[in-house]
Amino acid sequence: MSAAQGGRIPATLIPGDGIGPEVTQATVQVLDALGAPFEWETQTAGMAAVDATGDPLPAAVLDSIRKNKLALKGPLTTPVGGGFRSVNVRLREEFKLYANLRPAKTIIPGRYENIDIVLVRENIEGLYVAHEYFVPVGADPRAVAVSTGVNTREGCRRIARFAFDYAVKNGRKKVTIVHKANVLKALTGIFLEAAREVAQEYAGRVEVDDRIVDACAMQLVLNPWQFDMLLCTNLFGDILSDQLAGLIGGLGMAPGANIGDQAAIFEAVHGSAPDIAGKGVANPVSLMLAAGMMLDHVGRQDLAARLRSAIQTTLLEDNVRTRDLGGKASTAEFTAALIKRL
Ligand code: NAD
Repeated sequence: MSAAQGGRIPATLIPGDGIGPEVTQATVQVLDALGAPFEWETQTAGMAAVDATGDPLPAAVLDSIRKNKLALKGPLTTPVGGGFRSVNVRLREEFKLYANLRPAKTIIPGRYENIDIVLVRENIEGLYVAHEYFVPVGADPRAVAVSTGVNTREGCRRIARFAFDYAVKNGRKKVTIVHKANVLKALTGIFLEAAREVAQEYAGRVEVDDRIVDACAMQLVLNPWQFDMLLCTNLFGDILSDQLAGLIGGLGMAPGANIGDQAAIFEAVHGSAPDIAGKGVANPVSLMLAAGMMLDHVGRQDLAARLRSAIQTTLLEDNVRTRDLGGKASTAEFTAALIKRL
């Protein structure tokens, strides 16, 4: 039986690190109240898994996602500089989740109003392949650092096709290709070239233009309304999606989906926020909106729409907001108010 007919859908749940367990618990409560069809299989990854098993990405987590092809994930902490490789990056590579979809839409008008931009980020190539090494010179073993980025024509075409297909299906008008092909002529030149080729297949249906990433960053501050969809390489997409979050009230409001042909993992754009972890003040809206994208993904647009509408009413009419949005509500208080609205 399909989800639309009321069947249960097995899905992996990774609470994550830092504020992860707090926002995940809040999101699961809301999904339960909504009558969402997910049958959760809870798995531990990240620092929590290192503490429990010594491995940040235990085989059980991979097996569970391989089986369910669907996961909701809290943020996972990655050590800076040294230490283990990012579990987020490993998950994206393992399941070939080549598309990172990060919509940014104003709910609470603030410094900017009426922002509605969808960023599509290539998720497994570019500088994130992190082929890195140091070259020793004299007594300094780390005198020179080298990093190699890899973009393939196939990978660039695949993500461009994802973006243009998304545009067609969701009634978006224009895709802006973001690159640095004036300097990184090979690495981001191939991205621009492949994306322009794919764009031709959508001529007359979706407009296309392009921007050099630095100019794009500035224009996002001056006049973000000129943008509809941004199509970015991995690193640029990571940076610009945080900037987009800044236009709509911060990281507490920004959801994301990692999508491949075999599996999809939904998460917030934000990280584990160690500065506020354990205090019960984190804004769960990003992960809740990610859960909304997950409902869309499984064909339950009806529930997704109800969830988004209740979030909006709670924030705008009830004026219940967490601290990052200038409010006083705790994570639990916001969640309770939202459930009332469902
Ligand atoms: P962060 O996103 O965790 O936090 C940045 C700032 O935003 C902090 O001040 C934090 O308190 C605030 N913030 C973030 N989410 C919030 C929320 N829901 N409600 C209220 N405030 C919120 O970024 P960071 O501090 O650079 O990274 C912390 C860790 O998270 C690092 O180990 C990083 O590698 C990891 N990280 C993981 C993911 C992921 O799992 N996908 C994404 C980004 C960063």
